[in-house]
Amino acid sequence: MMVESEERQALRAAVRKLGLKYGREYYLGKARTGGKTTELWREAGQLGYLGVHIPEEFGGGGGGIGDLAAVCEELAAAGCPLGLIVVSPAICATVIYRFGTDDQRKKWLPGLIDGALKFAFAITEPEAGSNSHRLKTVATLEGGEWILDGRKTFISFVDEADAVLVVARTADATTGKLKPALFVVPVDAPGFEKQLIPMELVAPDKQFTLFLDGVRLPADALVGSDDAGLAQLFAGLNPERITAAAFATGLARQALERAVDYAKTRQVWDVPIGAHQAIAHPLAVAHINVELARLMTQKAAALYDSGDDFGAGESANMAKYSAGEAAIAAIDTAIQTHGGNGLSTEYGLASMLAGARLIRLAPVSREMILNFVAQNTLGLPKSY
Ligand SMILES: Cc1cc2nc3c(=O)[nH]c(=O)nc-3n(C[C@H](O)[C@H](O)[C@H](O)COP(=O)(O)OP(=O)(O)OC[C@H]3O[C@@H](n4cnc5c(N)ncnc54)[C@H](O)[C@@H]3O)c2cc1C
Repeated sequence: MMVESEERQALRAAVRKLGLKYGREYYLGKARTGGKTTELWREAGQLGYLGVHIPEEFGGGGGGIGDLAAVCEELAAAGCPLGLIVVSPAICATVIYRFGTDDQRKKWLPGLIDGALKFAFAITEPEAGSNSHRLKTVATLEGGEWILDGRKTFISFVDEADAVLVVARTADATTGKLKPALFVVPVDAPGFEKQLIPMELVAPDKQFTLFLDGVRLPADALVGSDDAGLAQLFAGLNPERITAAAFATGLARQALERAVDYAKTRQVWDVPIGAHQAIAHPLAVAHINVELARLMTQKAAALYDSGDDFGAGESANMAKYSAGEAAIAAIDTAIQTHGGNGLSTEYGLASMLAGARLIRLAPVSREMILNFVAQNTLGLPKSY
């Protein structure tokens, strides 16, 4: 784990080549004109990168979540941060291959793997926020059909997705208690509406509030069985955190690479600005913190890929935390290194800072990770 396998290193090199073929200008061009990175997505899918973590028996590459994280990181490091990797392949394809019925795997996995199908993921609700025990979206079974009612908010990619994997609650057949279950909801289902949330982010990715009003779904819209909802969530959320961490360290590497180049060439006294320790040391600190976050991300991926869903939870949280913090600090340092150019549209670093800032908030906030570590790792009392 400390040194990546030759296969993983070769995968990184190949993905980096693809990322650089499109590059930062392509990504920013799409972001600033309301476009989507569809060509890159399809090519990544056709090259096997989006299904690299899915077992070969289901048509994937037979690797692990560490490989998908490498794909996500290398594309971001090459200037193309594709947040959809965190959702469609990392959460949705994982949950479907691990828990779906044979029919569901046949129906959805080929498209999710080659990129022809995109799934969004919806758990967040306006009133529940970080408290997932308060989720109010409910699914009821009526005459062999599921009926979904509820609201979701900040759901990314709904405008480019074919379907949304929605977390709802169902009543347990014996106890009547509500428990989570996951449903595939096509975006054109009657009763399903989306409303754009204007955001101060420069990215092709858009966020939406979802309104689910009596959405009728066939029985097989429920992923697997309604007894496995919680296990499905755990199985999907660790890959989400691990790939979100990789997304952040990729952003950080891109910013640091450019800052180091700038520090070597920009000269306002007799030496390049990188010769001043006030510029060099913060870049060195940022690099160290990014490397530490990458190491924790690899540990979390290795634990997850060894089949330890529970054990991976702590490391996946720590990886997401440290990668978010390292990325924010690295991009901030890159901005300072660039002087006024750090805030210019041409250099595009300020918008990267907002992208990294997102990782401190989502998919789970910094504070909820600190709560998790305080309670579960350190055994401190719960404060809420
Ligand atoms: C750009 C973007 C994209 C997103 N995409 C998706 C998506 O695709 N799908 C999806 O389901 N969700 C998505 N989200 C939602 C995201 O996961 C939530 O915003 C996040 O989990 C925080 O929830 P909240 O916004 O309701 O904040 P709140 O829960 O209202 O929290 C507000 C603040 O209070 C803190 N806080 C809350 N409870 C505690 C506590 N007990 N102790 C200490 N501090 C606490 C939080 O850490 C936070 O700082 C996205 C969000 C953003 C911004």
